[in-house]
Amino acid sequence: MSPRLLFWVPAGLRLSLLLLGAGVIWHFFGIVAGLAAGLAGMSAALIVQLHYLYRLADWLDHPASARLPDGWGAWTDIFSRLYKLRRDDEKNQAELAEWLARFRQAMSLLPDGVVIMDDVLFLEWCNPAAERHLGLHLERDKGMRVTNLIRSPEFMDYIILGRYGQPLTLSLRERKLVVQIIPFENRRQILVTHDATESERIEMMRRDFIANASHELRTPLTVINGFLEIAQSQPNLDVQTRMGHLKLMIEQGHRMQNLVEDMLTLTRLESVEYPLRPERVNIHALLEQILHEATALSNGRHKISLDVDGPDIRGSTDELRSAFGNLASNAVRYTPEQGSIHIAWTMTPAGPRFTVRDTGIGIRPEHISRLTERFYRVDKSRSRETQGTGLGLAIVKHVLLRHDAALSIESEPGKGSTFTVTFANKAICSADEAA
Ligand code: ADP
Repeated sequence: MSPRLLFWVPAGLRLSLLLLGAGVIWHFFGIVAGLAAGLAGMSAALIVQLHYLYRLADWLDHPASARLPDGWGAWTDIFSRLYKLRRDDEKNQAELAEWLARFRQAMSLLPDGVVIMDDVLFLEWCNPAAERHLGLHLERDKGMRVTNLIRSPEFMDYIILGRYGQPLTLSLRERKLVVQIIPFENRRQILVTHDATESERIEMMRRDFIANASHELRTPLTVINGFLEIAQSQPNLDVQTRMGHLKLMIEQGHRMQNLVEDMLTLTRLESVEYPLRPERVNIHALLEQILHEATALSNGRHKISLDVDGPDIRGSTDELRSAFGNLASNAVRYTPEQGSIHIAWTMTPAGPRFTVRDTGIGIRPEHISRLTERFYRVDKSRSRETQGTGLGLAIVKHVLLRHDAALSIESEPGKGSTFTVTFANKAICSADEAA
């Protein structure tokens, strides 16, 4: 049955019963009694309707606390429908609250910032990443104009020009941020922020590396090209001059070769495709070889000594040869003639330790923290004169990183330097461990 019939049929029946009762009384007791009974019945029905109207008004005023009665007559249906509406409403609200909580949680985990603003840029909501990126505080700043909170001329220009199709790169609070405004829902806008500080730093490193490497290769290439052009334009040069030119070209060729080899070594050390394959490193044999190479490089100009008193470790022999060799060759190259160099392997409470001490030119303190940067040199001309590529200590740093070892540098200008590499105790090989 349709809801309208459900309402009208019982109401009509009740009215008919009332009229019938009044008619019966009229028949038996006269017109006055019949009219009085009809009036009393109508009044009682009116009182009942007013009572339920009052309860309904009361419930509408306080829907949460007041209770609806079961009702009588048509009211039963009205109240039960209102009950159902309220139950549905509560369920919807609970679902909405759950969605909102999930949305907030997802937004708070997002590494990118999200700011919701109205059409005139008043802050409505933002996630924690946006608070971090832009220095906002939702509770404090809600309802304030975003342009008053983000004080950046570039951001102001972006807003004024309104070219929201393109993102804007912004320097803010020592970060590089990529921000973009996305209008939505007619009267709202979202501001999305992405922290590009790290990727920008990596990109800058890459650019610097390419610029430095090209610069390093250009000098020897220019020298070689210059001599080749002389050889072409002056074919009758005397043998001695020609031999001199060839010697210089070979030197520059070696310099380029060293540079390319060091760059390849660095690339390999950084690559995840070349994980460290630890083996037993025969420290005695390795350091004898380092001593031998340093002596050859020194060519009798220095006094070089070696002390080995410590255990073997686990690591990559090739990589450690490269790191220790770089430190020893630096000591030779930056120590004037008659100076002395001492190489040692000792056991300390912190772990096994490799030390190279020289009585060379030393390094001023302000340079020390930057020495392991690629192409960083204290004295460019001296580094080149001694066949340096500027990548030696960068290679040392990467090898030590892969071996969980730490490098420390102590130096006094004019007196000398000590480069110390400390390995963790866990790197020590037990006596019976196989090679
Ligand atoms: P390079 O090929 O120029 O030697 P490195 O990365 O090996 O490059 O070293 C970086 C810089 O550190 C050198 O240019 C030099 O100025 C300084 N340096 C390294 N070792 C020593 C040392 N034992 N004594 C003095 N200066 C050193």
